[in-house]
Amino acid sequence: MTVEELIEKLQECDPGAEVLLAHQPNWPLQFQVGGVASGEDIAGETECDEHHDYNCDECAEPVVYLVDGDHPGHPYAPRAAWTVAR
Ligand SMILES: [Zn+2]
Repeated sequence: MTVEELIEKLQECDPGAEVLLAHQPNWPLQFQVGGVASGEDIAGETECDEHHDYNCDECAEPVVYLVDGDHPGHPYAPRAAWTVAR
């Protein structure tokens, strides 16, 4: 899923709702979203293996990580989250 596709899906949601990550359906856990990290952000903090350079434009991956945070109250996600996911 691209950032554009995720934005489209989020536009259908209540803008005041909390965003949670549902993780591993066989033992369903939930986390708050702790932050967002792009490949460029990560390249700036990581020495690339090939060029031994920080902030290497060639090696920055075109990815965005949603980084987990704390559990919101209780740790378990509803299994139905996987059934209804769009
Ligand atoms: Zn590199």
